[in-house]
Amino acid sequence: MDLPQVVSMPTIPDSITIYEVGARDGLQNEKTVVPTEVKAQFVRRLLDAGLQTVELTSFVPPSWIPQLADATELMERLGDLGKGAQRPVLVPNERGLDNALAAGVGAVAVFGSATETFARKNLNRSVDESLRMFAPVVARAQDADLWVRGYVSMCFGDPWEGPVPVEQVVDVCRRLMDLGCDQLSLGDTIGVGTPGHVIALLDALQAKGIGTDRIGVHFHDTYGQALSNTATALGHGVRVVDASTGGLGGCPYAKSATGNLATEDLVWMCRGLGIETGVDLDKLVATSVWMAEQLGRPSPSRVVKALAG
Ligand code: MG
Repeated sequence: MDLPQVVSMPTIPDSITIYEVGARDGLQNEKTVVPTEVKAQFVRRLLDAGLQTVELTSFVPPSWIPQLADATELMERLGDLGKGAQRPVLVPNERGLDNALAAGVGAVAVFGSATETFARKNLNRSVDESLRMFAPVVARAQDADLWVRGYVSMCFGDPWEGPVPVEQVVDVCRRLMDLGCDQLSLGDTIGVGTPGHVIALLDALQAKGIGTDRIGVHFHDTYGQALSNTATALGHGVRVVDASTGGLGGCPYAKSATGNLATEDLVWMCRGLGIETGVDLDKLVATSVWMAEQLGRPSPSRVVKALAG
């Protein structure tokens, strides 16, 4: 079968926004360094497959992530395709924002952490210090009419700290929203979350005035939970789902080839549920097969494996 039978279920939306992270979150965790033109071709193919929100790259110091050191060059190659509110790039600080603005971006994302240990490892700062670093970035981005997203990592567990209290996650989320973010992305960075935990966090956020209309979910499939968590979030009002074409990215904090939720797996489930995504699944699978050749390793996506054979 090339497509599932369509059978809807209660409280499921008619359509969702897939927030495609393959070119940034995916590639940043791949060992094989990908040439800039291949990245540009990847983005063009994602757009041609019908994805509308495509995160492009990260304007971080080259020493942090050598894979994404070509951010400015990528933006040049993409031209108008890289512009607008649906082509976000990551910026950690004002220097990154300056470079992103010079490149003509229309949307940015800052990346915070729900835990102190990961804030230190990822940004070399405490949670408080990182939020202080983001404040002028978000303010200036707003002044420049950019759309702003706030990532929150380790929302469902932390490899160094273990369980993460829901209240602790909500506190960081509230502070990012107060800075002026348009949307938050709740990251299950190590993939340990389960559906009841998803509902508990969404309800706790709602109680603090952060509704599901301002939330995206970012699940990892390390323990096979990404789709069940996604279905749960969709049934609870979430309409934005992060995914990585072909499941690119692996998991940097676990010995697993499976990291980001694969966009193809998400599209298959949505198709079956009658949820419109705008994505041409055949084109997307062909893109993943092509990208796997560039990287020299097969896609971990179940749907890619099933359809590409
Ligand atoms: Mg991810």
